[in-house]
Amino acid sequence: MIDWTKKGFATRAIHAGQGPDPLTGAVNVPVYLTSTFAQEEIGKNKGYDYSRAGNPTRDAVEVSLAALEGGTSAHTFASGMAAITALITMMRTGDHVICGENVYGGTTRMFNQVSSRYGIEFTYVDTSDPENVRRAIRSTTRLVHIETPTNPLMTLTDLRAVADVCHEHGVDLSVDNTFMSPYLQRPIEFGADIVMHSTTKFLNGHSDGLGGVLVGTRPEHKETFSFVQKSTGGILSPFESFLILRGVKTLAVRMKQHDENGRKVAEFLTKHPKVHGVHYPGLKTHPQHELAKKQMRGFGSMLSFDVGSQEHANDMLKRVRVCTLGESLGGVESLISHPATMTHAAIGAEMRKKIGITDGLVRISVGIEDINDILDDLKQAMEWMGR
Ligand SMILES: *Cc1c(COP(=O)(O)O)cnc(C)c1O
Repeated sequence: MIDWTKKGFATRAIHAGQGPDPLTGAVNVPVYLTSTFAQEEIGKNKGYDYSRAGNPTRDAVEVSLAALEGGTSAHTFASGMAAITALITMMRTGDHVICGENVYGGTTRMFNQVSSRYGIEFTYVDTSDPENVRRAIRSTTRLVHIETPTNPLMTLTDLRAVADVCHEHGVDLSVDNTFMSPYLQRPIEFGADIVMHSTTKFLNGHSDGLGGVLVGTRPEHKETFSFVQKSTGGILSPFESFLILRGVKTLAVRMKQHDENGRKVAEFLTKHPKVHGVHYPGLKTHPQHELAKKQMRGFGSMLSFDVGSQEHANDMLKRVRVCTLGESLGGVESLISHPATMTHAAIGAEMRKKIGITDGLVRISVGIEDINDILDDLKQAMEWMGR
């Protein structure tokens, strides 16, 4: 048996968890559309009894994702939010969680409006300065949950520095790595204890299925998260598991192209006379460009830029043709959005102002179409601004 975890990233993405089917030799993992499994006699089965507890297609994608992030186990859920919910079941009443102040809006909604009702306490800090994390730690703190880079302003957190602060105090660090994918950033290599993804984005990569994953590094993660899958039931379906298995096979080539196109769009925008500022860690002008080079293997395809006003943003957004105006990110197609009225509408104007999300801010998840077609599309759409 080859140990795929020792191979290169692109090889792992194609082979880890994805060996030929032992029964038929099929080169793809079959989609085991079954709720239950026949048992030979009382207490004797082939390792599966009911698909909520375990399903061979889901097992395969979990082996694959653990290998890609460099963790020891992975557990998949019906969506990114279901994965975060499973993560929080590790907490008890009275426990304290420190969270990045600009994480995915659904995460803070879940923490503030669901988890806090069970007596779990949350503090939000700007984790771009690790000292803020240190200052927020209490005797009851059990988890620090961050995103780097943040959405949509692309602010980085030093993974190694925050992991060190956490471990000095016996606190776990979990990182939502959705924006980067394991191809571009592997937080476990910098000390993270748990990595979480919305697989809906780059891991699936084709905007055709929701999913979430928790990658763990210790035996207790494997035990806890498989128990949570069985007990709370928010598991990834066999078909959705297959879509991710299929998606990750091309993760390396997709991310290379996303990264290349992302850099070119960022360069184009910095030179555009109607753009007031571009947030992209690949630009030398990004205040954390050096940190980005240290902890990321590329800069990805997520970026945001300011066109001055909501009117200008709308002039442009209603005229894009290659890019699609919509929420979400990480698909092969370019997706463009307006954070103030879409992803960040719920946090309110005051909070948006505090973290720097202006009404003229536009976010792009640059896809892997031909770069000239993406640039021409942005160019023509921006000509309509302020007309
Ligand atoms: C989309 C997203 C989520 C939520 O994932 P769903 O699959 O939509 O539930 C969490 N974190 C980040 C960074 C995301 O982009």
